[in-house]
Amino acid sequence: MTDPAPIVLKFGGAALSDPARVVRWIRLRGGPGNPLLVVVSAREGVTDRLLQSARPPVRSTRIPRLLDELRRRHPVPAPGIDPILQTVDATLRGIVASRSREPSELDRLAAQGERLAAVWLAHEMNLRGLAATSLDADRLGLRTDRNFGAARIRLEASRATVRRRIDRVWAADRIPVVTGFFGQGPGRTITTLGRGGSDYSATALGAMLGARRVELLKQRVSIRSADPRWVPRSRPLGYLSYEEAEELAQFGARVLHAWAIEPARQARIPILVRSLADPRQTTTVGPAIDHGTPRALTVLPSLRLLGLRVPGGREQPGIMAEVTRCLAAAQVNVIQLYTSATMLCAIVESREAGTARRALARLVQHREMTVEPPQEVEMVIAIGERILEDLYRLPRSILRTTLGVAATPRALSLAVRTADLGPTLRALHRALVEIPPRP
Ligand code: ASP
Ligand code: MG
Repeated sequence: MTDPAPIVLKFGGAALSDPARVVRWIRLRGGPGNPLLVVVSAREGVTDRLLQSARPPVRSTRIPRLLDELRRRHPVPAPGIDPILQTVDATLRGIVASRSREPSELDRLAAQGERLAAVWLAHEMNLRGLAATSLDADRLGLRTDRNFGAARIRLEASRATVRRRIDRVWAADRIPVVTGFFGQGPGRTITTLGRGGSDYSATALGAMLGARRVELLKQRVSIRSADPRWVPRSRPLGYLSYEEAEELAQFGARVLHAWAIEPARQARIPILVRSLADPRQTTTVGPAIDHGTPRALTVLPSLRLLGLRVPGGREQPGIMAEVTRCLAAAQVNVIQLYTSATMLCAIVESREAGTARRALARLVQHREMTVEPPQEVEMVIAIGERILEDLYRLPRSILRTTLGVAATPRALSLAVRTADLGPTLRALHRALVEIPPRP
């Protein structure tokens, strides 16, 4: 292991907009005996642009304009950038020729944004006197499973090679600049980790290298107790436990990639989510602390609640499994289940509600259940260690209009009608966030 432990700095697409500031940030954290590893996502809008270019109808006549644009956004000497642009060109031409869009081709295409960003940032660093070497994550040995578009990093399988190769860069007194967002799938293909996946690359690399901390630098970010558009009295959150942050990420708070927490949690490495525009806006994610942390509210919008009435309820063993199996077979993603002995409410995405109803209709017939008309709902989630201790604080005004509740000791979810969303959020914020710290 490196001594002292390295720091991983990951820059998001928008954070890369000002290279001078990025380089200054890196310089402040590095220096002799202070190894750094930089991870980059693609520059802002580049991933979208690449993926759009592969949307049908793909025309090869449009490729030169795309390549020009990419070149303009990454002013780097030709030998660095040409091979990447050639890959973009060849992949798009392959898509045009085959008229298919294989997941592996889309992943290879999307990944070029990060390759461009790494080469470009390393160049900017070198120009400013910080010796840097760009590295592609697949060549570095960051191995993943074969799940194109949502791959998982194989930490143990990658660790030894990644360490060896990064050590070599450090030994030459250079700062490695590694591409986020993708890795090497089976058979040396490129696999991407899902949108926003560079966070996950950074924490996984941090875990493999035994980092002191991982900083996720976004242009503007403030992780707050609630969205200030709904709750003007929301406050910034300075600290979250790994588990709270993971609930928050999984419940759709788009600030963090859903898989980014786990490698850091396992390795006990703190994650700092920071705003480059205003470094005071920092949220640290680490082990749970005894006195708890302020709660956070988040919303999963535009959902449908499908209520099933189950006569005999618990007398019909296996009914729950049957319902979930039926929905899973129809490829419907069940976001939440609220149950009692005679009611079973499934929350699904609005766009999957039709499919879900048709799938359930068949089951309903032979099980003698009835389906209630679907209702449009929003799901409000309150997250915080020991949240159940404060359930008694929930005001009746909210509970009267709530259509379902589910809870674990760390997360409480309520389904409410769209019209009740704002008032519910504000009332919950008063009841669960604007309270004195727990003893
Ligand atoms: N560039 C990728 C995306 O836009 C990955 C990332 O930003 O972390 O999703
Ligand atoms: Mg991005």
